[in-house]
Amino acid sequence: MVLYNQNSMSKSKKFLPFALPDIGEEEIAEVVDTLKSGWLTTGRKTMQFEKAFAELIGVKHALALNSGTAALHLALEALGVGPEDKVITSVYTFTASAEIIRYLEAEPLFVDINPETFNLDVNLLEKTIRENQNVKVIIPVHIAGQACDMNRILEIADRYSLKVVEDAAHALPTTFDQKFIGNHGDLTAYSFYATKTITTGEGGMVVTDNGQYAERIRTMRLHGINSDVFDRYTSDKPKWYYEVVAPGFKYNMTDVAASLGIHQLNRVHDFQKKRASIARQYTDAFQNLPLKLPVVARPADTHSWHLYMIQLDLDQLTISRDQFIEFMSEKGIGTSVHFIPLHLQPYWRDRYGFDSKDFPKALHVFERVVSLPIYTRMTDEQVDRVIAAVRKILSNHRI
Ligand SMILES: *Cc1c(COP(=O)(O)O)cnc(C)c1O
Repeated sequence: MVLYNQNSMSKSKKFLPFALPDIGEEEIAEVVDTLKSGWLTTGRKTMQFEKAFAELIGVKHALALNSGTAALHLALEALGVGPEDKVITSVYTFTASAEIIRYLEAEPLFVDINPETFNLDVNLLEKTIRENQNVKVIIPVHIAGQACDMNRILEIADRYSLKVVEDAAHALPTTFDQKFIGNHGDLTAYSFYATKTITTGEGGMVVTDNGQYAERIRTMRLHGINSDVFDRYTSDKPKWYYEVVAPGFKYNMTDVAASLGIHQLNRVHDFQKKRASIARQYTDAFQNLPLKLPVVARPADTHSWHLYMIQLDLDQLTISRDQFIEFMSEKGIGTSVHFIPLHLQPYWRDRYGFDSKDFPKALHVFERVVSLPIYTRMTDEQVDRVIAAVRKILSNHRI
């Protein structure tokens, strides 16, 4: 993402960034309180954030980590994924969803997508499971905050005795069957990266109802030490004593980050309402244009609207997706592309010998997709600016 120096531009030409975090006075005061407290790393604030998160989602365990990638990694680690194992995920996602499979020396099996939802095509799951040995886990990714069909995924996982780890990096506070994402699979990973629906700068959370998985993650997130630093300093064992039971990682969340998370979480529904309102304005304004609009949530369910992804109808346009992005940029509006399918990325392509046409739906969407700004700090005037720019560019270049 390109960040512009806004001060260097006149007010009318001010560049509208693709994304901006929404940090309020309460977040700032909490961070200052933490800085003055003398306790910066994992401690009371992190525990408070975890407790509030578990209560919101309605799960037994929430474990805070320093990234969503760490959350995905430790979820798979807790399931005992290792060499020889295969893990199914979507080809249409950020590389973090798949790289964690390689961290554990297991192999990903990529599946193509449903081009309406951008989520993995559930119809391809069974075929992939039957055609491969040692499939252990499915990682559905709720792209943009649109829930995957968890009923069908869980039914298939159950039939083949597979585990399900949900990549919910986009899916707070998405619901499926009126329950928050986090209540369906065996473990669910969230991201609080700077552009996500709530942020701690960098951070993540993994939730589960399974006490054994939670205990393993608790250990592995801090060097394989069998209790947290916090416990070490509050338990009645000698302060210097700890036990290393595994070669763990350094993935714990700091209290500085958790200070942001506590207040961001309080605002999660307000944030969603604001983004949903922008999505509605876009959808109303983009009728009858040469583009495909994103699908909305099922009735009674919530879409987090982390991303608003349009697909240009290239058959009706004289410009490419890349040219559209250039024109938007000339009008001072930041956009992005989610995602470059993994089979086009050099590492994944070369390791598995992929051809670009191996995942035709993902390729089709990728060539047409653009993400528009959709964040809580956007003013009505800025939303209107985006709408006017999209309408103008598409009308000017319509066949
Ligand atoms: C952002 C993201 C992640 C990783 O989250 P980090 O907190 O940046 O590590 C994982 N999966 C998807 C789909 C993401 O968009």
